Amino acid sequence: MIQCPVCSHQNDDLALLCASCGSYVQERVPTLDFFSMVWMLIEFPGKGLKKIVLAEHKNYVLMIAMFFGISSGFGLFWSAHAGNSYENIIHLIIAASVTGLLIGIPVFLVMAGMSYVILALLGGKGTWRNTYAVVGWALFPFTFATTVLLPIELAAFGLLFFSNNPHPYDVKPVVYAVLIGMDGLLTFWSLMIGAKGLSVAHDVSIAKSILVLAAVSAVVLTLLYLCAQAVLFAS
Ligand SMILES: [Zn+2]
Repeated sequence: MIQCPVCSHQNDDLALLCASCGSYVQERVPTLDFFSMVWMLIEFPGKGLKKIVLAEHKNYVLMIAMFFGISSGFGLFWSAHAGNSYENIIHLIIAASVTGLLIGIPVFLVMAGMSYVILALLGGKGTWRNTYAVVGWALFPFTFATTVLLPIELAAFGLLFFSNNPHPYDVKPVVYAVLIGMDGLLTFWSLMIGAKGLSVAHDVSIAKSILVLAAVSAVVLTLLYLCAQAVLFAS
């Protein structure tokens, strides 16, 4: 709760104006600045997510969703061992990027939509716009995995990274374990930001939002994996 500095009325945490006297109870957030937002999500995730919810313009969400798509495209090619069916790494990079660009925004909208509907059914008070914004920003660490780790993965393993014959782990065990471990940590960080974000936006317990996000992620990952298998078998 936020206490009004003028009339002492107790207001909702996400209120901008006092419900009783109409004074400002917290600062307006007209837009989100990319780099300061990224930093805030590292340093004070709770504060950053509240700022995203309060923001009048939900900047960068679709751009993050697009990069999330590219990360997912490479993730799918990796999980399906697509490297076995390519001879040239450039062809795999093009195919994974195109797949990613096609699926990024639709998959993000499905994830945000499912989270919104399930939370609304469970008594969540958040709006669609805020669900869209927190889910979008939560994907940022996951996209970081691609922009920073993927070039290293490609340089260290090339096509082998996406194969299982031989498995990249058998070739360079330490490098592979470190890279996959970092990918895993960034994915975990995305899930934590997403859970915290849904709990802030919908005013529900963190346990509830973790369950919702886990269910949504499981459904989306299963669908994506089945699609990848179908595409690779068809080609
Ligand atoms: Zn007041």
